Amino acid sequence: MSLHPAGTPVGAPPPRRARTDVARRAAVVALVVLALAAALLLDLRGSARAAEALVPPPPADAGREERLLLVHFVPRDRDPVPAFERRAPVAAAWAADVFRRNLEDQHAAARLGFEMQGGVPRVELVQGRDTADTYRGADPSDETAHYQRVVDEVFAALGPPRGRIYVVFSATHEPEQRCFDAEGSIAMGTILAPDAGAVVIASWVLDEGVCAEDPAGELELFAATDRVRGCLKKDGAWYEAERGRIAGNAIGSLAHELGHALGCFHDFRNPRVDLMGKAGHHFRPDKNSSSDLAALGWIAPENRLVLRWSRFLAADADRGDAREPTFEPEATQPLAAGATSVPLALVIRDDRALGAVVVYAPGSDTLVAGWPAEGTELRLERDVRVAPLAPGVFEIVVLAIDRGGNRAGARLHYHVE
Ligand SMILES: [Zn+2]
Repeated sequence: MSLHPAGTPVGAPPPRRARTDVARRAAVVALVVLALAAALLLDLRGSARAAEALVPPPPADAGREERLLLVHFVPRDRDPVPAFERRAPVAAAWAADVFRRNLEDQHAAARLGFEMQGGVPRVELVQGRDTADTYRGADPSDETAHYQRVVDEVFAALGPPRGRIYVVFSATHEPEQRCFDAEGSIAMGTILAPDAGAVVIASWVLDEGVCAEDPAGELELFAATDRVRGCLKKDGAWYEAERGRIAGNAIGSLAHELGHALGCFHDFRNPRVDLMGKAGHHFRPDKNSSSDLAALGWIAPENRLVLRWSRFLAADADRGDAREPTFEPEATQPLAAGATSVPLALVIRDDRALGAVVVYAPGSDTLVAGWPAEGTELRLERDVRVAPLAPGVFEIVVLAIDRGGNRAGARLHYHVE
């Protein structure tokens, strides 16, 4: 569309006509500006609507026996994060909602439930017996030991995690660090039983400016482009990043660790888009995102099979099933170096009913295959695709999950010649 009406005189216009033309032109320009503004406003409204669709519902009790319990763990030389009782539910709501979005097509009730108190999620404050550096330990790169020291005290204070995933925001990181690359800035989640798990994540994810006090406010933080301190590097200089990136990394990493606590494996086949790959680091929905999973973290079908039978997500899980599946592996045949396919042959049984079988390659730390399963006996004869095999021993783990969320794994070893 032209901004200029046709026939606009060029050069020295007669005074009267000029005034008319100027007035007409001004009117047209004003109309066009108005139209553009209206279009922009509509567009902004459209974006705002798309963005609002991403804001998770407030945490609620999903009506199942298994729930998330939020915990703020504070060593004796540290103070709690201000407003942690309001911020922990916001971080957890965003992370939990990723699972609902990934599962809702196949499993409408898939929503993580929270322990509530007075209509809001319960957030327990646990005072650590030791100083923050004690929990980080002599070797701060040993995340497993750090995790264990924290969960031991949380379990001692609040009881063993029966029917619970403890989501622990731990103030054991070094002061002011806001990145997971810093040693001691923990992010770790583990499934402990079909009805138990724990996540320990550095409590900087709840800091002001990283975590908002309401779910919609978090969306604004994801969009923030001002640069703030992230990591203190070894040379003493601060690494800075956009606030939105730090906020996204915080929530995305929490979702990833929650995935582990629900039983998910790493999946590095599509690392940038898969939440159980590296997508959690790039979690940053903004006003341009639709409700599409690319913005939030997509979970591959094989990990969705794992989640399908999690007692924390499945209303229809068989909670009376206490016995895990069993295996009858057959002898493996030698394979040729360079092969990209591995034959599986084994019989899997369950006393009640199988739910799924997934295949994990420990050497490359990734899922490689998976199938739904049913009935009490499955004769699995399948070829799975893997990265080209190197000479030596190749290991594969076949994990069977029953409809009660009980899990058992068989390790198969192949000689590669
Ligand atoms: Zn991980």
